[in-house]
Amino acid sequence: MNRIKNIVIVGGGSAGWMAASALVKVLGTENYSIRLIESEEIGIVGVGESTLPHLRLFNNMLGINEIEFVKETQATFKLGIQFVDWLREGQHYVHAFSPTGRDYGRLPFHQCWLKAWRMGRASPIGDYSLTALAAERGKFMPSPNDVPASSPLSNIAYSYQFDAGLYAQWLRRYAEARGVKRTEGKIRQTVLREPDGFVDAVVMENGERIDGDLFIDCSGFRGLLIEQALHTGYEDWSHWLPCNRALAVPSESFGQPTPYTRVTARPAGWQWRIPLQHRVGNGYVYSSNHISDDEAAAYLLSHLDGKPLADPRPLRFTSGRRKKFWNKNVVALGLASGFIEPLESTSIFLVQSGIARLLDLFPEADFNQVLIDRYNAQSVFEWERIRDFLILHYNATERADTPFWDYCRTMSIPDSLRGYIELFRNSGRYFRDADEMFTVTSWVQVMIGQGILPQSYHPVVDQLPEAELDEFLGDVKNVVATCVEAMPMHQVFIDNYCKAPPLGLS
Ligand SMILES: Cc1cc2nc3c(=O)[nH]c(=O)nc-3n(C[C@H](O)[C@H](O)[C@H](O)COP(=O)(O)OP(=O)(O)OC[C@H]3O[C@@H](n4cnc5c(N)ncnc54)[C@H](O)[C@@H]3O)c2cc1C
Repeated sequence: MNRIKNIVIVGGGSAGWMAASALVKVLGTENYSIRLIESEEIGIVGVGESTLPHLRLFNNMLGINEIEFVKETQATFKLGIQFVDWLREGQHYVHAFSPTGRDYGRLPFHQCWLKAWRMGRASPIGDYSLTALAAERGKFMPSPNDVPASSPLSNIAYSYQFDAGLYAQWLRRYAEARGVKRTEGKIRQTVLREPDGFVDAVVMENGERIDGDLFIDCSGFRGLLIEQALHTGYEDWSHWLPCNRALAVPSESFGQPTPYTRVTARPAGWQWRIPLQHRVGNGYVYSSNHISDDEAAAYLLSHLDGKPLADPRPLRFTSGRRKKFWNKNVVALGLASGFIEPLESTSIFLVQSGIARLLDLFPEADFNQVLIDRYNAQSVFEWERIRDFLILHYNATERADTPFWDYCRTMSIPDSLRGYIELFRNSGRYFRDADEMFTVTSWVQVMIGQGILPQSYHPVVDQLPEAELDEFLGDVKNVVATCVEAMPMHQVFIDNYCKAPPLGLS
C-alpha cells in the first residue's frame, strides 16, 4: 500500500481551517504532514455568519467546548430562519430546524394538520413547532437532559450565528496546536506533473516550493488549483438563482438578538439580518440585472435596524458548482468548489460534508478513480437537492411587484423540483432522498410558507374521527405553547451561560 503523506491545504478561510482541523484530528501527524497556505494580503471573504445545526456535530467531533466556542466567536443561537415578504408583502413564516408537531402513528404530523387546516380548524403550522414558536417569541435554550423523549423540549435543534473570521482564527489555533503547519504568503504558480497532470507542487512568491500528494483547494472563488490550474469547468445556475452580487455591512446591535436569521425579500433580491453578540451582520443579495450597485447600497443602508459600522462591502458570485469537486489529486472545498447563494446558510455545511466525504473516501497515493467518482456523484446529488430547495423559495411566490420577482415567479425550474412540487401540491407528500441535506420538515415548512397548499391529504387521516383529530392537534399546540412559555429569553440565556467579553478582552 502506498499511502498519502503530504497534504497541502490552499487557503485559510473557514473552509481551509475547518479542513485542517478535521484532518489533523482524524489523521494525526504521525503519518501525515498537513500544511496550510494562506495570504493575509488576499484575506478571506469574511462573511458566512449563519449556520446549520450540523456545525454542532463538527465542533463535537473536534472536541470543542460549546460555551467557549460561543464566547470566542461572539455567537448567538439560531433556531431557524424567518422569511419575511417572500410569498407576498406582509406575510412571514419561520423555517425552523426541529420537527413540527409529532407524528400520529405512521402518519406524518403535517398530514393531520392539512386536513384540519382545510376544515378551518387548525392554527398556522408554525404554532405546532416548538422552535418556530420559540424563535418568533425570542426564546432559546438547548434541550434539558431530564425531559422525556416524548416532550418537544427533548429535540431542540439549533445552530449558531457567529463571526466567521473569529471562527477561522479559533480553528487556526486549534489546528496549529495539533501540528498543522502554516505558510504565510501568496502562491505564484502551480506545478503540474507529467504525464497525468496531477498537481505536484505550488510555488510561493518568495520562490519556496511546497510539494504535496493531496491538495485541498480552499482558495475561495478564484479556485486557484481546481480551476486556474486544472480547468475543471463550472456549471452555472444563475438562470434559477439569479442573484449574483451582495453587499455586506455590520451594524450596531439593536434590541435583543433574535434566535433566528431574518431574510427579507427585497425589490431585486433579499436582505439578511444576523444578530451576533457584538454587532449585527446585514447584507443585500441581489441581481445586477435588476438593480445597480449604488441603488442596492442605498437601499440596504436605509433598511438597517441599527447604525452601520462600516461602508457596505461588495461581493460578486455566480451560483453554481465546479463540474468536478474532486479532480485528479485536488479536492475543492468552500467557495473554490462552487457557491449556492446564502439564502439557507448552506455553504459552511457543504464544507463540513465535503470534509466528511473526503475522510470516508480517503485515497491511497494512486488516487483510484472509483473513489473520486463516488465523491463527485455524492456531492452532485447533495448540491443539486439544495439548489432545488433554494429555487423553491424564489419560484413559489405571488410577488409580481418588480421585474425581479416577475422573473423568478415565471422562470422555468428544474424537472426534479417540478416533480416534488407536483407531488406535494397533489397530496402533501414529500420523500427525502438518500442523504439529502434538508428534511421532510424543512420542505413542508417552506412549501406551505411559500403558499403551496396541497389539494388533498393522506387518505388514512380520514380514519381518525374528527373529534380525535381536533384533540390531537389541540394537545400538540398546547404542549408547544406551554414549553415555549417556560423557555428563557435568548438574551437571558446568553447572559447566564455564555456572554462573550468585549472583543480584544477574550
Ligand atoms: C454574500 C455571502 C454570504 C454568505 N453567507 C453565508 C452564511 O450565512 N452561511 C454560510 O454557511 N456561508 C455563507 N457564505 C459562504 C461562506 O462565506 C464561505 O463558504 C466560507 O466563508 C468559506 O470561504 P472559503 O474559506 O472557501 O473562502 P475565503 O474565505 O475566500 O478564503 C480563501 C483563502 O484562500 C487564500 N488564497 C487565495 N488565493 C491565494 C493565493 N494565491 N495564495 C495564498 N493564499 C490564497 C486566501 O488568503 C484565503 O485565506 C456566504 C458567502 C457570501 C459570498
